Amino acid sequence: MQEAVREVEVAVIGAGQAGLSASYFLHRAGLTGPDGHVVLDGSPGPGGAWQFRWPSLTLATVNGVHDLPGLPFAETLGEHDDPAAVPASKAVPNYYAEYERRFDLPVRRPGRVSVVCDRESRYRVEAEGGVVSARGLINATGTWEHPFVPVYPGAATFRGRQLHTKDYDTAEEFRGQRVVVVGGGISAVQLLDEISQVTTTTWVTRREPRFTEGEFGPEQGRAAVARVEERVRAGLPPGSVVSVTGLLLTPALRAARDRGALQRLPMFDEITPTGVRWADGSTRDADVILWATGFRSALDHLAPLRLREPGGGIVLDGAVPTRVAARPTVHLIGYGPSASTIGANRAGRVAVRELLTELGIR
Ligand code: FAD
Repeated sequence: MQEAVREVEVAVIGAGQAGLSASYFLHRAGLTGPDGHVVLDGSPGPGGAWQFRWPSLTLATVNGVHDLPGLPFAETLGEHDDPAAVPASKAVPNYYAEYERRFDLPVRRPGRVSVVCDRESRYRVEAEGGVVSARGLINATGTWEHPFVPVYPGAATFRGRQLHTKDYDTAEEFRGQRVVVVGGGISAVQLLDEISQVTTTTWVTRREPRFTEGEFGPEQGRAAVARVEERVRAGLPPGSVVSVTGLLLTPALRAARDRGALQRLPMFDEITPTGVRWADGSTRDADVILWATGFRSALDHLAPLRLREPGGGIVLDGAVPTRVAARPTVHLIGYGPSASTIGANRAGRVAVRELLTELGIR
């Protein structure tokens, strides 16, 4: 029997901020209808990775969620919603759901993509719900599904619990336990702040953290994205947004510092059955090691396209930072300079403009 394959001009993989932004611009460019474009999403509902974030991450503790094009976030918030009380894991999915409805975006769920391969001059996209054949590909699968935990000697011998930020729920579950928090990013310090209020913590980072004073509004967001882009253009690894902005000293973090919770130790050298040990022989006992060590791109489904260079990285075009240099019909958005809501928005717009030009659609 002939396999049913849906043919579209462009397949977008992932419906987080990056994928929705791309879909909006594809829709606006006239790629509507069954053969225009489709967004394949592996999550159970709208919201991208935001639907999985821990409950204490509220609209007051996020850096700020940038508006998607055409619909301000604020319009989807209840008039009396208190930002300190509204979990981002509820408000952002609610916003994305309304966005998908408002612009009638063709998001397919369940739509997890298992593999993408070449099929003559098109891409064969194998997804839950059926195969899609596309001329161009915009990949926006984020990083949430690829938590990164560095390898340290002795990790397997540790008798306590090890978990990654991705598995964090609430500080209460650590009450009375000694917790080592590893990592120097925003998530690390926010979780450290919460956990240090209920129990004893030790904070370790590879580099000395750099704290900054002031505001983090849209202007600072744009400046941070520009600085990460500059690094990419100069051939350097993108680095996280925090690596270029520093950690913003919010009132909560100031209070944590005053409590002594932000006294940082260098990275340990070894994990023991009962804790961690440094090369000079000093130790800390621990019941829990929390790895707030970030994420890596979720790109395994693209492996057959052989986008990776021998060194393991994917080289993006110097002039168009979302375009795979060796494959101008594949764009990756939501990574490096576009790994924020503001960067993802812009990346969606750029990817659509460049891809449609490449495909001769405009
Ligand atoms: P995601 O939101 O991760 O969406 C990717 C989507 O792709 C998901 O729905 C996933 O299910 C789907 N997917 C994955 N694999 C497949 C597959 N094989 N097939 C089909 N679908 C797939 N940014 C800010 O601007 N402000 C903040 O305050 C902020 N706070 C953050 C806090 C934390 C804890 C973290 C981890 C990040 C934060 N960020 C923040 C970054 C921000 O969330 C993202 O950069 C931004 O939302 C862009 O997301 P995305 O669309 O690239 O990916």
